[in-house]
Amino acid sequence: MTGLDFKNLKRKKTPFYFYDIELLRETLATVKTEADRYGYHVHYALKANANDRILSEILKYGFGADCVSGNEVITAAAAGFKSSSIVLAGVGKSDDEIKAALENNVFCFNCESLQELHVINDIAVSMGKKANIAFRINPNVDAHTHHYITTGINISKFGILEEDLPEMIATVQALPALTFVGIHFHIGSQITDLEVFKELCLAINLLQEKYFTDSALFPTFVNVGGGLGVDYKDPHTEPIPPFGTYFAIFNQYLKLQPGQEVHFELGRSLVANCGALITKVLYTKKSSHKHFLILDAGMTELIRPALYQAEHQIQNITRMNAPLEQVYDVVGPICESSDCFGTDINLPLSNRGDLVAIHSAGAYGEVMSSQYNLRTKVKSYYSDTMGDRIIPICAGQERIN
Ligand SMILES: *Cc1c(COP(=O)(O)O)cnc(C)c1O
Repeated sequence: MTGLDFKNLKRKKTPFYFYDIELLRETLATVKTEADRYGYHVHYALKANANDRILSEILKYGFGADCVSGNEVITAAAAGFKSSSIVLAGVGKSDDEIKAALENNVFCFNCESLQELHVINDIAVSMGKKANIAFRINPNVDAHTHHYITTGINISKFGILEEDLPEMIATVQALPALTFVGIHFHIGSQITDLEVFKELCLAINLLQEKYFTDSALFPTFVNVGGGLGVDYKDPHTEPIPPFGTYFAIFNQYLKLQPGQEVHFELGRSLVANCGALITKVLYTKKSSHKHFLILDAGMTELIRPALYQAEHQIQNITRMNAPLEQVYDVVGPICESSDCFGTDINLPLSNRGDLVAIHSAGAYGEVMSSQYNLRTKVKSYYSDTMGDRIIPICAGQERIN
């Protein structure tokens, strides 16, 4: 075990994001191997992390890009993703975003409403282009995850309800610039109960039988979305999510028509665990009921705890071998009470100046950062240029404690 002293990390101005590139590569290689077993196609959901360095690694494994804005399409194309592997999704595509996607000749639009079909058709006609269309269907499957990241139930703003499919089908066939190519589902994020994906498969099978067996309306692919969760509580024991089990569920339960491809849009599961937010203790503060650790990073660098009550593992990496003898509320400096990374966290007795790692910040961390309170955007560093690694080192600490 080398680098327990985090020599290089300690020299950098905090806070910053730290990415373990070796772990990212191992994760990507696992996804590739497990998806290739069944000939599955994986598109990376850029919204999880659109950092250039991360995108360049993901590109090397031959994945496509799943985009939810015009700027994501432009970023994916600039990063080198082939236009034939870029998809534009999103419940509210603006005219400019649709134009940007058509200009970049994206592979497909995942459409979510009748009006959207008309708008894409009109813009495509005016540009002399054709647009491939997939329907994002709401299969009414509950993802059993936080309600802010559940998207596939009937009261959600996302997707097309089954009752609206006949009109969508008639419309896509009637509009001259549109070509129907596939069906798309995305039921939520941070899904750890894998039974949910079996339910999704069964729902898709019923919908295919009912609406999509006509050869005039053949979905060349079934896109089952993303949503595979990661272990935020203990990201070090198995830092790579269970991709083998995950893909095997689709292979077992999803009924395909001859010639159909299966597409996935994974975001979080590819990048969450390779990233950490490294921050410093500014102050330790004791009140009658609580001990606080006040950090120099806050919800501006990692908003997930404030936004979804998410829990990330927190470690004092200055005191790796010390007993966890003090209970702290770990908070940021932002003027919001929700700016709190965790309550009642067992940590070593900590001091001003100690370095703290907030783990699994690789997804929906940097990309959701803001300049609220007019804070400065923080830097990112990478294990391969820095020497330090976060994952094996922390695995070591767990054995020590
Ligand atoms: C967010 C999103 C994804 C990625 O979700 P993860 O949980 O990060 O895998 C995939 N598809 C769509 C349409 C999304 O909105």
